[in-house]
Order: sequence, then structure tokens, then C-alpha cells
Amino acid sequence: MTPSYRYLFFLGKPASGKGTQIRLLLERFEGRTFSTGDALKDHIARGTPLGKKVKEVINAGKLVSDDIVMDLFRDAAEHLQTPVGQALFLVDGFPRTIGQYELLKSYLAEKGVSHLFLYFTVEDTLVLRRLSGRLVCNGCFAPFTAGRDNAEEGGTCPQCRKGVLVRRSDDNETAIQKRLAEYRSLTEPMIERIAAEEQERFFEIDGARTAGVIFEELIQMKPFADLQKRRN
Ligand SMILES: [Zn+2]
Repeated sequence: MTPSYRYLFFLGKPASGKGTQIRLLLERFEGRTFSTGDALKDHIARGTPLGKKVKEVINAGKLVSDDIVMDLFRDAAEHLQTPVGQALFLVDGFPRTIGQYELLKSYLAEKGVSHLFLYFTVEDTLVLRRLSGRLVCNGCFAPFTAGRDNAEEGGTCPQCRKGVLVRRSDDNETAIQKRLAEYRSLTEPMIERIAAEEQERFFEIDGARTAGVIFEELIQMKPFADLQKRRN
């Protein structure tokens, strides 16, 4: 088998548990990640032609178009180094709109990439509960849940022991409701389309369960069977 990446697209609301599973999968298997937000920041910081374009759009107070988001993804996919064996390309929060999915679909078909969509389902009430309890270290940026693992707002970071645990400014209820409304109008119709079109490559995962239970279910799935385990 030629060494290659299997593309896994993680779909779902904020705090549906996608990020945790990506982290756990990377501890177990060879892989690379992509998230639109990180890619935007990275291109702006490096001052690439794409980063300059993004900066202009943001400075003009406009939304980053589906074409630009697709360019960011294509750039990341084309800079993947050839893996040692079979490996994972873990994609978080992309595609997010029907337009992005259409662009992605042509790209995947053109490249003949092996891929899957993993859709994490959670109720809005759980999203609110999870996000309003979320704390982040202002030093090392490690995430914590208030009331767990000695984490409390304003307390010292249990990981780096230097930073202070703070609530992210976009984790207040008004901001969360806004993100959920955006998700309902832009992303949910796309997910319905993917479910209908991709069928055997679309999997729904109940994101309300604990991370450990979800992880065990994920790695029992067929696509993980022939993957290279990380050599630590
Ligand atoms: Zn810290």
C-alpha cells in the first residue's frame, strides 16, 4: 500500500467533543491537523500572499469567503509531507458551509483522496454547559473545565503553574447563542447534504458521552484498522 493520508473531516457544533478526539487520535496514530482558524492566523503571521488577502478582507470588515477558506485548506493539504505509512489528516471545522463543501468535493474527487466525515451530535443545552465551564490558561493556553482537575477561574494553571485560568471572551452566553444560530443556518443544511451524498463515508457520533467512550468507539471503526501506531 502506498503511504498516504486518510482525510477525516470533523463536523459538529462548538464543544461537541471534536477537538478532544483529534488530540487523542494524534497521541495514538501518525497524523497532521488542519483548522481554518489556525490556518488564518498562521498565514497572516507569516505574511504569505494568502495571509495578505485574508487581512485585507478582515480589515474591510468582510467575511472570509468560501474560496479563501478552500485555498487555505488546499495549501495545507498540498504541504503535507509523505507519511511513513498510512496516516491521518484530521480536519476540524471545515467545511462549514454548502459552498465550502462543494469546493471540497471537487478537490477530493480530483485528487482521489480517501476520506470520511465524522459528525459529532450534541444538544444546545450541553454546548452551553460545556462552554460556560471552559477555562483556558493565559500562559500556556491549555484548556480546562471549571471544577475539574483543580481548575477554577482566576486560579493558577495546573499545567504550567505560571499562567492564570481565564474564561474566553467569546464563551459568554450571548456569544455562544450567536455561534449556535450561525451553525443552524449555515452548517446544518450542509451536514444534511453530506449525509445524503456521502452515505457510507458519513458517520454520526453521539458527542454527549465521555471522551474515553467515544475514543474507544472511533478506533474500532474500520478506517483505523490499518493505521500506523505512533512510535514513542
Ligand atoms: Zn498554563
